[in-house]
Amino acid sequence: MFNSEPCDGCSQSISDALSRTVRLIVDQKDVDSQRLCPGCFASWISRYESEMQISQQVIGTDEIIVD
Ligand SMILES: [Zn+2]
Repeated sequence: MFNSEPCDGCSQSISDALSRTVRLIVDQKDVDSQRLCPGCFASWISRYESEMQISQQVIGTDEIIVD
């Protein structure tokens, strides 16, 4: 039996083994935490990277933690 919960991106159910959790931390505060399937995880990373380029000076001290 799988312990599965929906993906925060596409709402499909994913097992723990496949899920990825991403957390965006700004000024020691957890501002974005999402549980994603591999496909949405890849999209999240590429979106994060493109946003980084646009607003790099604003969020320059961010940390990204990928479990
Ligand atoms: Zn998904």
